[in-house]
Amino acid sequence: MIYLKTAEEIELMRQAALLVSKTLGLVGSEIKEGITLKKLDKIAEEFIRDNKATPVFKGYNGFPATLCLSMNEAVVHGIPNDTVLKSGDLISVDCGVKKDGFIGDHAFTYCCGEVSDEIKKLVKVTKESLYLGIEQAKAGNRIGDISFAIQNHAEKNGYGVVRELVGHGLGKNLHEKPEVPNYGKRGSGPKIQNGLTIAIEPMINMGKKEVTQLNDGWTIVTTDRKPSAHFEHDVAIVNGKADILSSFAYAEEAMNKNPFLVKIP
Ligand code: MG
Ligand code: MG
Repeated sequence: MIYLKTAEEIELMRQAALLVSKTLGLVGSEIKEGITLKKLDKIAEEFIRDNKATPVFKGYNGFPATLCLSMNEAVVHGIPNDTVLKSGDLISVDCGVKKDGFIGDHAFTYCCGEVSDEIKKLVKVTKESLYLGIEQAKAGNRIGDISFAIQNHAEKNGYGVVRELVGHGLGKNLHEKPEVPNYGKRGSGPKIQNGLTIAIEPMINMGKKEVTQLNDGWTIVTTDRKPSAHFEHDVAIVNGKADILSSFAYAEEAMNKNPFLVKIP
């Protein structure tokens, strides 16, 4: 069952999404050579709780942290640990909060220090594929139109599109119907209508599409161990069109101000 939201509920979701946006920006501003992933997680958790919200990943099916921090060959669901960030790293920061009963869940991939041009291109194309997907999130279309747009752009650039993990509806729950795959056929899947709220989140691999779960029971890595990028926005359908509830403005500000981060268009 797909829960369509009222205008009031969508405004609450926007507040939750924007708190995540600010958290992603804060994490970006704190990224520096030698900082541990655990430290970034602590900063995020304190900020979320200071803003009268709850980190929703923490405890979700037993996940131990506020952020999913997935570096380099890690696709998603990386556990913040004592690993330190160094020049050349690529890191997906994914965060979920519950505020006033509603969930925000979105993600941004930062590039640290001297990253290769290959990685810069992967990050750029992954973000472009997200926005191409969002363009298709309009009344009259179907979920498959979003999926196709993402897959088409990624594969045109020679990248692998992860199949095992997908975008999703969200609202009072972190994962609601419908699933929003990053691959699929135009005109297939559930109809997109006003009040639909979804998280669109392409996970794009530089190499092959296959992924593997590490023994920690969480971290998803590319099977060929080539890098992977991930961007996620929360979107509501309002007046037939996509209304992006989350914002990359805070992450972009962090990239402008933090000399350790590489600004990717
Ligand atoms: Mg998500
Ligand atoms: Mg997420």
